[in-house]
Amino acid sequence: MKPVRVRFAPSPTGHLHVGGARTALFNYLFARHHDGTFVLRIEDTDTERNTEESLQGILEGLAWLGLTWDEGPYHQSQRLDVYREHLQRLLEAGRAYPCFCTPEELDAMRAEQRARGEATGYNGRCFHLSEEERQAKLDAGIPRAYRFRVEREGETVIDDLIRGKVVFHNSVLDDFVIVKSDGMPTYQFAVVVDDALMGITHVIRGEEHLSNTPKQMQLYDALGYEPPQFAHIPLILAPDRSKLSKRHGAVWVGQFRDQGYLPEAFINYLALLGWAYDDKTEIFSRDELIRYFELEKVSRNGAVFDYKKLQWMNGVYLRELSLEEFVERSLPYLRGIVPDEMSEQERERLARILSLLQTRVSTLGELPAQVEYFYSDEVTFDPKAVRKFFTRDYVPALFDKLLAEFVSLAPFTEERIEPIFHRLRDEFELKLGDVIQPVRVAVTGSTVSPPMYETLALLGRAKTCERLRRAAAYIKQMPAESAQ
Ligand code: GLU
Repeated sequence: MKPVRVRFAPSPTGHLHVGGARTALFNYLFARHHDGTFVLRIEDTDTERNTEESLQGILEGLAWLGLTWDEGPYHQSQRLDVYREHLQRLLEAGRAYPCFCTPEELDAMRAEQRARGEATGYNGRCFHLSEEERQAKLDAGIPRAYRFRVEREGETVIDDLIRGKVVFHNSVLDDFVIVKSDGMPTYQFAVVVDDALMGITHVIRGEEHLSNTPKQMQLYDALGYEPPQFAHIPLILAPDRSKLSKRHGAVWVGQFRDQGYLPEAFINYLALLGWAYDDKTEIFSRDELIRYFELEKVSRNGAVFDYKKLQWMNGVYLRELSLEEFVERSLPYLRGIVPDEMSEQERERLARILSLLQTRVSTLGELPAQVEYFYSDEVTFDPKAVRKFFTRDYVPALFDKLLAEFVSLAPFTEERIEPIFHRLRDEFELKLGDVIQPVRVAVTGSTVSPPMYETLALLGRAKTCERLRRAAAYIKQMPAESAQ
């Protein structure tokens, strides 16, 4: 087998989408598995839709995921001479011709085809111009695109590494544009020229490109290039099996980063979108993915993007981090909540807080809400929690008693705090949870937090007492109706 050369060829018309990231990953894994070369090529010939911001987003996404390339990035916009030269070759061989049809004429042609109940496609009008007519139009400088003259006889068979033999009837093809009137090559043309010149051995890409492949095969043939092997990977579907889109949740890689997914967990999850090692193993390190990845094990069926499973997987990775690492990776998500500069003591306190949370969150983005009350001066009470717990008639007395105990409690540790709660439970004849929950709302603002005694100890005596007092005052001024 020739040394493997694969490429990821994004068009910078949007940030890195999960589908693009999965394509990049499969190419990367395939290249690394075979000690091959992974090329990055930016397909930026659609000048109207390209943006610099999209390009940056794609590069950042790849960097975050650690999908490093060996060659490139090549930019198609800097290779226009190469495409021009190839157009010339096709013109000379009679496989390309200028097309002077205006957009209006093309629209009218399609409307007529539809009216006659025919499939729409270019009718070859400019192919049939006489040499003199063509030359006259060229001389007059009439804007023109260039079309490829397709072979409409017979069929094109693609031996796809994932989908097996796929047969296309050439009769469904029409003479498609290869160079637009602005002089830019179209995707179909540039992709073939580049894959051929860059020595790409395997084109691994999304299934949505399968129907482009017969056109591209004809171009390889017309240019005298050997086509690469193709591997079309299954579409990514939403949980309801429709096309995954932003109404289902995050779809851009940057969004997952911002929500606090770890790149290694995200990579692991992406790898399972269409590929499996066996029917049970789900957690794979990057090295394992490289070792095990094979195109033969990629499925033909659409892969469902399961947000819940990704979340679960991220939790698995979070819990595997050492505490030190967990703190380090949490810090970017806690900006503005914890001080930028921390003394050793402050850092230790943060580590203790985070040690309580490491097993309780599945994304780092959940941390701010859970860390904030340790640092803020005041907590905001969740109205639902207030209605449920502050309206109970024993609560003011409970807070009074707790305060009386806490003001002199030293050291203020969980070992000393716990028995007080037990005593009050007996005294008030309550369940422990009914003692704890109102206190939790008072000090954290909500009904969810790490274990109460540790939380109080970490919060410290002064803050705990102050919050209990504030909650007591809040309850006093609550309008009577909220007590119903
Ligand atoms: N630029 C194309 C895209 O982003 C690449 C398709 C291909 O891999 O051939 O979809």
